[in-house]
Amino acid sequence: MTQPPPPCSASWPATRAGAVLRVDLAALVRNYGHVAGLAQGAACAAVVKADAYGLGAAQVAPVLEQAGAREFFVAHVDEGLALRPYVSPQARITVLHGPRPDAVEACLANGLRPVLNSLEQIGWVQAVARQRGTVVDAVLQLDTGMSRFGLSEADIHTLANDPSAFDGLSLSLIMSHLACADNPQDPANAMQAARLRAYAALLPPAPLSLAASSGVFLGPDYHFNLVRPGAALYGVAPQTGQANPLEAVVRLQAHVLQTRQLRAGDRVGYGLTWQAPGPCRVATIGVGYADGFARQGAALGCAWFKGRRLPVVGRISMDSMTVDITDLPAGELEADGMVDLLDATHGVDAVAQAEGTIGYEVLTSLGRRYHRVYDTAGVAHPGS
Ligand SMILES: *Cc1c(COP(=O)(O)O)cnc(C)c1O
Repeated sequence: MTQPPPPCSASWPATRAGAVLRVDLAALVRNYGHVAGLAQGAACAAVVKADAYGLGAAQVAPVLEQAGAREFFVAHVDEGLALRPYVSPQARITVLHGPRPDAVEACLANGLRPVLNSLEQIGWVQAVARQRGTVVDAVLQLDTGMSRFGLSEADIHTLANDPSAFDGLSLSLIMSHLACADNPQDPANAMQAARLRAYAALLPPAPLSLAASSGVFLGPDYHFNLVRPGAALYGVAPQTGQANPLEAVVRLQAHVLQTRQLRAGDRVGYGLTWQAPGPCRVATIGVGYADGFARQGAALGCAWFKGRRLPVVGRISMDSMTVDITDLPAGELEADGMVDLLDATHGVDAVAQAEGTIGYEVLTSLGRRYHRVYDTAGVAHPGS
């Protein structure tokens, strides 16, 4: 039986947390539909590693399965074990890093499909297959240029010349991963696709997979038999410098904890690094670097209120930051109000730009102490 997802919001009231993180599951489903539609002809898996990029795999995966995803990818065996109860028994869970020797049993006993990234790893899994007297369904990962995971060209030739190389294994996918897919002009993309084709021709026939989110947007030459999007499902822009065709999935609203009037020359925050240039009003809000808003984002960071930009002033503290609300009409935003840190038009990529990082890191850094609300409007929510 599939375990119903945990309740849609924590049982403690929103007002006890510093901020409310809303996850729009209908937008998630539309993003999945958009990506799967682009990759027509290939199956569309869903990557839900790192707790679905911080959004909650137990909530996100069942909704994606309902939307048509039949395959899920996680990084570690532990993540696969945690996910297993939340998707149907038919749903396939693949472990990108594959198991280390002491985790092969747990991986196989729980129906997790291992990715085999090295000759050693192939050996570990074959040893257990032999003990169990079974054939293990597995994925082979090939290194086509990123030098991170997968079999090297030399490994591939070793396997190709060994008639017993795949004893005890049934290869249901051969995959690789693109290093530069966010830039369609990068010649590494076509080089990696060509290597995947050439290497796979040396190995037993199996479906092929190369594209993650950005790779899907490179076009049909990159789709092969299965695409593996993660970030795009959660609203991250797939191509740098291009308009983002995906919808924001998260909205983060922070509580205003205190407001105050400053005189010219008053200073704000640790180190007193910011000085009021004239009379101004500031608000302190309940989100800080412990909640995923990096200190180095302070200079360019901001919150939003009714379409107006409220710049961060001074350093970001662990549990709070202070924003300039001078431009708001008096009385419009008081203690107990809320401001947006992420919304439909100012999303994780905008915050990433202020922090000098990428949307992926902003998403996966979002704090664990937000009050989370899973918005199910328009979604046939499993378990309900
Ligand atoms: C993380 C990951 C993905 C998903 O990548 P996105 O860019 O988030 O779509 C796909 N394949 C592999 C091997 C990964 O590590």
